[in-house]
Amino acid sequence: MAFYCWACYGRNDHTTGACVHCGHEISPPAEATETQRLIWALRHPDPDVAIISARRLGAEGNAEAVSALREAIDRPPDPYVAGEALHSLLALSTVDNEKQLLERLAAGGPFMLRRQAERALAAAPASSPVADDGEAREAGISGVAGDSGVGV
Ligand SMILES: [Zn+2]
Repeated sequence: MAFYCWACYGRNDHTTGACVHCGHEISPPAEATETQRLIWALRHPDPDVAIISARRLGAEGNAEAVSALREAIDRPPDPYVAGEALHSLLALSTVDNEKQLLERLAAGGPFMLRRQAERALAAAPASSPVADDGEAREAGISGVAGDSGVGV
């Protein structure tokens, strides 16, 4: 079983103690909240873990995750992670707040994100929160995540 370093994501074969790559403690700090652990896992080397974490951050509803989700969309470790992150970002934020990001994605993002962004922009008139994300969820990548066999 592999464990990944809290500091550098390096792979280790022990659960606690010094990382063989960076020398830092590999386990999360005791005070790390569930949200902070999920934010960390957005960059997990296993994309399945990252996708599940992106999804959970949206379900958890903690606005602390907003900037990490934006970053996971802008510098995605994996396109499926980005799709799930965008979905969760829209659950935590509003189309209005994310307008620049959405317009940039709609104009030239990866295909999957482009469509998701177009739908979000079309569904929500300016200055109103995302009314119902049911449609976005359908249009999103939930089916793709299912295809990859991710169990949550
Ligand atoms: Zn490390």
